[in-house]
Formats: sequence, structure tokens, C-alpha cells
Amino acid sequence: MALVICAHPDDELLGCGGTLLKWKDSGFPPTIVFAGTGRVGGSQSADALVVAAKAGWTIGAWGPFQDNQFGPLEAVVGWVEGILEKYGGPRILIHSGHEMNQDHQILHDACKIACRPWAGKWKAGLGPSRELWSFEIPGSTGSGFVPNLYFDTSGHWKRKGGLVELYRSEHRLSPHPRSPEALEARARLRGSEAGVPMAEAFHLEFQLIGQTSGTAS
Ligand SMILES: [Zn+2]
Repeated sequence: MALVICAHPDDELLGCGGTLLKWKDSGFPPTIVFAGTGRVGGSQSADALVVAAKAGWTIGAWGPFQDNQFGPLEAVVGWVEGILEKYGGPRILIHSGHEMNQDHQILHDACKIACRPWAGKWKAGLGPSRELWSFEIPGSTGSGFVPNLYFDTSGHWKRKGGLVELYRSEHRLSPHPRSPEALEARARLRGSEAGVPMAEAFHLEFQLIGQTSGTAS
């Protein structure tokens, strides 16, 4: 049901892993695509396969873009448009537009261009509604990110934390924003903003409500 468009392996987990686990457990396993395989010579892509197998989600595609060298923008837009034709569903999750990581920022810009509703690219398998969410990556998303959508992941934090451990090359020690302690603190902070123990935060970039559930009087 949901398509997640990430720059690198581990972005899916750091940005929205608890939410994806919850969707999967509800019978709606997400599809994830990576625009690149991560650091050259690193284990990120192999680790992503292990994580996906354990989490129960599908990796739909790997893009051709090298770490820290995403671009030119037109090429990234073209790649995203191909992804939309093949996998584009009613709900798409993308990087924030307030990124210090240049790959994340370029991919965000490309997704916003490819998903603009009047361009007609974002249509495969669509019903009357569609949503575009952006997620935050600890240590990479800047202070311009303003959440307006929260997902209660209280029951899924432990599994998410365990999966983060599987990205062997990405382990960081406290007080790094991607250390286990900081990730848990962020989940609790986002939860406190939403009135639940733990949450992941998103920015709703776009929403079309195609039909109403109530009746007009
Ligand atoms: Zn990344």
C-alpha cells in the first residue's frame, strides 16, 4: 500500500521503520526502493536485504546513484518517474525537504517534481485518494522540518531498535543522533508531542481526499 523512496539503505528504518513494521503487521507490507546502494565498499545493501527479510517488507528496486553524488536532478526525476509507474500507490513516503545530506535533498526535490499531481506520473493503481509524507533522518534532517503528522509506534520500538542493530556499518555511539540512546530519546520526544509513549514524526506534504465517508445533508 505504501511506497517508500529512500536515498540509501538504513534511511527506511531510521525515517519510518516503526511505522512500516506496524503497517506490515496490519497486513499492508510496504514496498521500499533505494536510489543508491550506500557507501562504496560498505555493507549497507547486504544489510538492507537482511533487515527486509526480518521485517517482512519488500525491496522493489535499487537505483543507479552513487553515494554523495546524486544528480543531475533531471536524471533523478526520471528514475523516480519510472518507480512511480511501477510501484506508485496511494501513499508515498519521501525524504524531508530540509536536509543537510545532499543525496536526501536532491531525492526529495526529484520526488516532489515527479509526484506533482497535474503531471500524471503518480497514478499506477490509484484509487481516489493519495498522500505524500516526508520523514526525518536523525543527524541529517535540519531544524526546518516541522512535523504535522505522527504515527504511534509505541509497540514497535523494540523491533525497530533490533533492526537498526543489523546495519553493521552504521552503528554510532552516544551522543550521536543515530546512537541507540538518541534514537530512543527522539521516539519518546515525538511521542510526547503526540500524547503517546513513542512515535515517529512526519510532514504531510500533500493530500488529496477523493471521496468522503459521510453523507451530505
Ligand atoms: Zn541516507
